[in-house]
Amino acid sequence: MRRSRFFLPTLRDNPKEAEIVSHRLMLRAGMVRQASAGIYSWLPMGFRVLKNIERIVREEQDRAGNQEVLMPTIQSAELWQQSGRYNAYGPEMLRIRDRHDREMLYGPTNEELITDIFRNGVKSYRDLPQKLYHIQWKFRDEVRPRFGVMRGREFLMKDAYSFDLDYESARRAYQVQFVTYLRTFARMGLRAIPMEADTGPIGGDLSHEFIILAETGESEVFCDREFLDYDLLGREIDYEDPAAVGEVVDYFTKLYARTDEKHEQAVFETAVPEARRYQGRGIEVGHIFYFGTKYSKPFGARVATPDGQEVEVHSGSYGIGVSRLVGAIIEASHDESGIVWPEAVAPFKVGLINLKAGDADCDKACEGAYGALQGAGVETLYDETEERPGAKFAEMDLIGLPWQLILGPRGLKNGVVELKRRATGEREEISLESALARLT
Ligand code: ATP
Ligand code: MG
Ligand code: MG
Ligand code: MG
Repeated sequence: MRRSRFFLPTLRDNPKEAEIVSHRLMLRAGMVRQASAGIYSWLPMGFRVLKNIERIVREEQDRAGNQEVLMPTIQSAELWQQSGRYNAYGPEMLRIRDRHDREMLYGPTNEELITDIFRNGVKSYRDLPQKLYHIQWKFRDEVRPRFGVMRGREFLMKDAYSFDLDYESARRAYQVQFVTYLRTFARMGLRAIPMEADTGPIGGDLSHEFIILAETGESEVFCDREFLDYDLLGREIDYEDPAAVGEVVDYFTKLYARTDEKHEQAVFETAVPEARRYQGRGIEVGHIFYFGTKYSKPFGARVATPDGQEVEVHSGSYGIGVSRLVGAIIEASHDESGIVWPEAVAPFKVGLINLKAGDADCDKACEGAYGALQGAGVETLYDETEERPGAKFAEMDLIGLPWQLILGPRGLKNGVVELKRRATGEREEISLESALARLT
């Protein structure tokens, strides 16, 4: 993409309405614009990141055997009346009437709809287990939408649902999602800590929130610092092997990690030596939950068992805040000059800077480099404008692409270009060929 063609309305100054760094940087880097309170338009730069995050979430869901579906944003109130949540959900639910005066709503989540789909399609234990997910916009009329996309009213969520014959097999489904989440967040360069969360009236120990440590987070958290050292991507996990999955889950669940809702100071102090105690704030980026027959009961979602009985299926739901993650990643990865994108989610891998647009040799070398990178499938933003070098550097730092490839007439005369790694600020003078070899 050529910078002159790219729709990138950056801002020089910090917008007043933005209280936290990710919100400021997303506005300044031209990623989003607010359409109305808690509702955002995604501009090209932001949309690219959102899509990259969505792709990683999808790949990891698929890898674990979940099947993608797409349910609508608008739902009928009927199913929610059946589950009893039409009243229970309160003012967070956006209620709508259609022209026939039928009650509708903009879905805040999908347990009702998916259970309805399931009960109409599955009748026998032979068809179990089932694991379905979708990635769709949700609406929750939050009292205080704030922090940009982190607490929006309209937001993109991945929500998955599992259906099993009994508790044991539902627990395995839960554990597979647990490990899938660790992998998903690690691929985005994040260290998400699974923390015990409230299960409400259902009880049991099967609810975890996945939390990114950050000062601007809205949750207060307590955990063992050992979480700060784990490496999950280093090993392959066979999701078909319950023992292997269980082992990972056991390792993480035996370490102390709870939000303030579940925190018990005495237990914390006994379980974690003082030097390893971490207390701070965090951002909830995912939440997994086993809820048993909570919805299968009122919906009559039953299957025949091998011995001819009928039982209600056991279910869980598993959410990831896809759009919230864009902000959360910035909270975890930025410096005073701007965003520092982890390579896996970056909008472009390389920012190519032409230091002297209009200089025939420099233009030619840049065009050659741009062609080579594109030919190798490396996503590149090529700044071929006539801006001052200083402004180009500042903008590249602000938008946070992992690599900057800088070509100027002086260097080219000596057969060198500059390659800068955004994360470390490290700069190297090398030949264009070796720079390209490094990037492709
Ligand atoms: P929170 O505690 O932040 O209000 P929640 O517990 O109500 O979130 P869940 O129902 O668990 O949210 O939804 C699953 C995921 O969706 C959350 O873990 C979070 O990442 C994301 N999410 C929830 N509400 C919002 C929102 N208003 N804006 C952006 N993402 C959200
Ligand atoms: Mg909420
Ligand atoms: Mg929550
Ligand atoms: Mg939650």
